[in-house]
Amino acid sequence: MQQQSFEGKVALVTGGAGGIGRVTALAFAQAGAAVVVADRDGSAAQLVAKEITVAGGRAAAVQVDVTRSDDVKHMVAFTVERFGRLDAAFNNAGIEVEAQPTHECEEDTFDRVIGVNLKGVWLSMKHELTQMLAQGSGGAIVNTASVAGLVGAPMMPAYCGSKHGVIGLTKAAAAEYGRHKIRVNAVCPGVINTPMMERAFAADPRRQPRMERLHLLKRVGEPQEIANAVLFLCSDAASFVTGHPMAVDGGMVAV
Ligand code: NAD
Repeated sequence: MQQQSFEGKVALVTGGAGGIGRVTALAFAQAGAAVVVADRDGSAAQLVAKEITVAGGRAAAVQVDVTRSDDVKHMVAFTVERFGRLDAAFNNAGIEVEAQPTHECEEDTFDRVIGVNLKGVWLSMKHELTQMLAQGSGGAIVNTASVAGLVGAPMMPAYCGSKHGVIGLTKAAAAEYGRHKIRVNAVCPGVINTPMMERAFAADPRRQPRMERLHLLKRVGEPQEIANAVLFLCSDAASFVTGHPMAVDGGMVAV
């Protein structure tokens, strides 16, 4: 797919070693951006950065736990140290947990999911926005929510709550920073073919056909299809789009 050029731009991707993050980091690099691949798994992040540089792109990896303030602050400082600025950020690190009813969800499970999926996005935006404001030339942020941020997802209380929260954070930040030409949007993937999805299907193989049927296109999505949306939202082609939770879900929440 033909993408807008990100030549001369610097992009940061959290969860950049995983399914959606890795493919989006590669797509940013292919479109000309210098890319920082940030992930809790530092060595896997290094491999993705190497994949980019071997292909002739510019990339660096940084280990980060997005729940830790010092790590996140360092991640943004590292980006600026390596590539001089920050233009686009994809806050995508996230975790899932085993499906369980709301009344059986343990408090530490709830805290863990909210910590990564919601607090991690807020902490990332906090430091990215600080840098973008200091640059004074705008910027674009995309946060990974989910269809579970748009509609109720039974048996996933913490995950569903965290992803609804991501959409709230996205809209609040869009409202606050629009006048600084910083656009903030979210992507809401349907079920996407990544290691996270493989873990869910391995736990219960009956889920796969059920999940495929839920999408109007009768299949799960590919990480590249999320990357395409993220690059669009970060590009000048989306210059009038902010505060928008974009469903990239094969029509799952349309009916
Ligand atoms: P994945 O498990 O393949 O990748 C997630 C990446 O995030 C991993 O590399 C992991 O190491 C990293 N990560 C986890 N916790 C972290 C932390 N505390 N700090 C930094 N990095 C951390 O998952 P994926 O399917 O690529 O999911 C990416 C995002 O998309 C997540 O936010 C997920 O909730 C969301 N999502 C996925 C699907 C799907 O079906 N795969 C659907 C909707 C939304």
